[in-house]
Amino acid sequence: MGNTPKLRIGHGYDIHRLQPGGELVMGGLVVAQGVSTVSHSDGDVVMHALVDAILGAIGKGDIGEHFPDTDPQWKGVASSRFLEYALNLARQTGYRVMNADITVQSERPKLKPFKRAMVQILSDLLGAPVNVKAGTNEGCDAVGRGEAVAATAVVLLIAT
Ligand code: MG
Repeated sequence: MGNTPKLRIGHGYDIHRLQPGGELVMGGLVVAQGVSTVSHSDGDVVMHALVDAILGAIGKGDIGEHFPDTDPQWKGVASSRFLEYALNLARQTGYRVMNADITVQSERPKLKPFKRAMVQILSDLLGAPVNVKAGTNEGCDAVGRGEAVAATAVVLLIAT
């Protein structure tokens, strides 16, 4: 264990298509009604990107390996469950989150009014400072056409 790195970095990305009906959950918040992501769980791209960033930092693959979308037990579950799982795995590996930086992209709704609340929810879950950057995709690609929402996350872990 003498060569355990003190710091580890991880990156995550997620995108989900949008569909009419239901509610849109991003960063643990309902940000819109009457629209939702096409997904097996609650389809929270922010949480999914964060989970992948944490799994990446500890070298444990990706969210799809741990929570297959063919497994009925994950149908409709809150993605905070996945985040708690990844955090536990990090803890067992001997790491805690030092900070996280997230970029979230949505054409509709605009996410600026939700940034502060997202930071609060995510920093409480991670027990670490979180920064959320929210933007559109400037009309480009599926996100820009309002057909999908996406998020990227970078986390830094420190040995406990
Ligand atoms: Mg996802």
